[in-house]
Amino acid sequence: MSLRLFNSLTRQIEPFAPVHEGEARVYTCGPTVYNYQHIGNMRAYVFADTLGRVLSFKGFRLSHVINITDVGHLTSDADEGADKMEKAAATSGKTAWDIAKFYTDAYWRDIERLNIRQPMRWSIATDYVPAMIAFAESIADEHCYQLESGLYFDTSTVPDYGRLARAATDAGESRIEAVEGKRHPTDFAIWRTTPPGETRQMEWDSPWGRGAPGWHLECSVMSEALLGFPFDIHTGGIDHREIHHPNEIAQNQARCHSADSGARIWMHNNFLIDRGGKMSKSAGEFLTLQALVDRGFHPLAYRLMCLQAHYRSELEFSWENLAAAFTRLKRIVMAAERLPAAEAAEPTDRRVTAELASFDEAVSDDLNTAKALTHFETVLTMKGLDTGQRRHALATMDQVLGLRLLELDRVTLRIAPVTATISAEEIDARLAERKQARTAKDFAASDRIRDELAAMGVEVMDGDPLGWEWKLKVD
Ligand code: AMP
Ligand code: ZN
Repeated sequence: MSLRLFNSLTRQIEPFAPVHEGEARVYTCGPTVYNYQHIGNMRAYVFADTLGRVLSFKGFRLSHVINITDVGHLTSDADEGADKMEKAAATSGKTAWDIAKFYTDAYWRDIERLNIRQPMRWSIATDYVPAMIAFAESIADEHCYQLESGLYFDTSTVPDYGRLARAATDAGESRIEAVEGKRHPTDFAIWRTTPPGETRQMEWDSPWGRGAPGWHLECSVMSEALLGFPFDIHTGGIDHREIHHPNEIAQNQARCHSADSGARIWMHNNFLIDRGGKMSKSAGEFLTLQALVDRGFHPLAYRLMCLQAHYRSELEFSWENLAAAFTRLKRIVMAAERLPAAEAAEPTDRRVTAELASFDEAVSDDLNTAKALTHFETVLTMKGLDTGQRRHALATMDQVLGLRLLELDRVTLRIAPVTATISAEEIDARLAERKQARTAKDFAASDRIRDELAAMGVEVMDGDPLGWEWKLKVD
């Protein structure tokens, strides 16, 4: 089964043919660490992780780089607004460096909680400033011009600028505010000179004056340094298809004296949207992974919710969707918990090998994780199957799904919301008492315990089809 992926450059599904035999080199645009990541951002990393897992499953040696943007990203993706890091520093009273460290750590915690595998390398933008200056110097004469505010890339000097954005270009261009002296609206800063009389916390000397790199430069530089041009796949959220990635491509073309984009395939995840408006950091209020945990949801329920949708479809966030994904996760984990212990054994049963083949087909078809999940469930519940073979097949599939379905148990899935006034252990103890009371036919005592628990927000779930005993109400 050959792997086929949707390439945003051609807007087509294409067979994956690696640049280097047996290897897959992937670069993922990472977070700007001036604040927590919202759950929409985390969808981008669940997607990149799933892509990496599928590449490994298909037998490619994976070299994955995710960058950390700790400098240069303005409050708009184009050349306007303040530097996000500097702005956060100014409003918090901390240094930009402290802020970057704090939010990078928070991001890494979320990465771990979502069982996102460690990439080969986290590349930190500020570690590459000398390399960025060298890159910019190498293209400056032919492709750039200097204005008072910095060094600008002339987008008319490369072939077919913006072909990645296509229809979106008009919308993209209208978002770019005119900078005095820019030759074309799409031209962008690759070096931003600090205005006279100002100092920035993050600034470096350069041939174009003291200042800081433009945001788009870092990804070109780090992807070239760590993966080499051309590499296989570049990923990011779909908003990057309009400005950031077309600009990276322009820089790569200039650097390589070529019409090629620097990566063979550009892949973009669609957005997680929230009609309640909780997905915009600039609006101030946004949902973090921690906010889901605070409500009693396991982080992997969020991962499952992402995998239930295709990465190229918009996914609407709602608490109901998340709750449904959590229920599905519980159902799977409880069924897996009931499996007898056994050494994993290479599947020979025809039914299992057929399911594994269908699973392979699904993920090879531009990462159809929604379908892949159903094959996992089929093998999980298939009647009369040798346990060793079942375990082997499930473990193989979970390597791709990354849901830790054979490791989780009902205790770890039980997360008390922050508002809870009673611990899981206390609830279990009260429920054990209630069970005794019912065995002794003391229904008055049993009802009293139930009411007391209800008063503390604990709903006792007698007769729950999943066999779940209780849940905490969240308002
Ligand atoms: P940022 O930290 O703003 O640079 O964004 C990090 C990543 O999240 C980028 O790949 C964005 O394209 C992606 N992203 C931003 N918002 C969303 C969203 N609502 N849903 C999915 N991905 C998003
Ligand atoms: Zn980038």
